[in-house]
Amino acid sequence: VVRSPMPERPDLEYQVPLLADGLRGAVVTGVRVRKPVVLRAPVPIDVLIGARFLDVRRLGHFVAFTLDGEWDIGELVKKRREQIKVVLMDKATFDSFGNAYADETLWEAGIHPKATACTLTQDQLVGLHAAMRTVLGGAIDEIRRRSPPLDEKVRDFVKVRNRGGEPCPRCGGKIRSAGVRGHDAFFCPTCQPDTAGKGFVGWR
Ligand SMILES: [Zn+2]
Repeated sequence: VVRSPMPERPDLEYQVPLLADGLRGAVVTGVRVRKPVVLRAPVPIDVLIGARFLDVRRLGHFVAFTLDGEWDIGELVKKRREQIKVVLMDKATFDSFGNAYADETLWEAGIHPKATACTLTQDQLVGLHAAMRTVLGGAIDEIRRRSPPLDEKVRDFVKVRNRGGEPCPRCGGKIRSAGVRGHDAFFCPTCQPDTAGKGFVGWR
């Protein structure tokens, strides 16, 4: 059986290259969204002001804008006293993270999901930012490679999410889960040590 991606919507096929030609290199000076368009940004909108458009392309039924703006993850989390997983999943701060990508990113960064956001060190913040790019970028590549139907969520490439009891791909220890404010978090107690010493290890 040969599965090929559905043909794209003709209007978007036509418009996206035009948009890309017009926007590449332009700087964002303001953001205004007209119905019925919905804008989803991975960071608060005001962080996008001053960023430069690198590219515009189709991504499933979205039009994806790639921007080169500098943003400091420290600014986004340094005043937050919640657990880092809660901050990652706060849609007003980051719009890219559901449960799975939040767990994967924290595992990649070696940060415990219950670590208090404002206590993360500069090294941890740099690592967290790098992990976001690795995990989300890798997921985009993987999803694009497989071109799943629009209603199918491809998540079977995750390394820790819903893998409680399985070996950690990095150290071979057992993946554990713990409750984080109404959600569960999957993590590796060895790779994501509880540096605050509060005994945050789930044994479910
Ligand atoms: Zn591990």
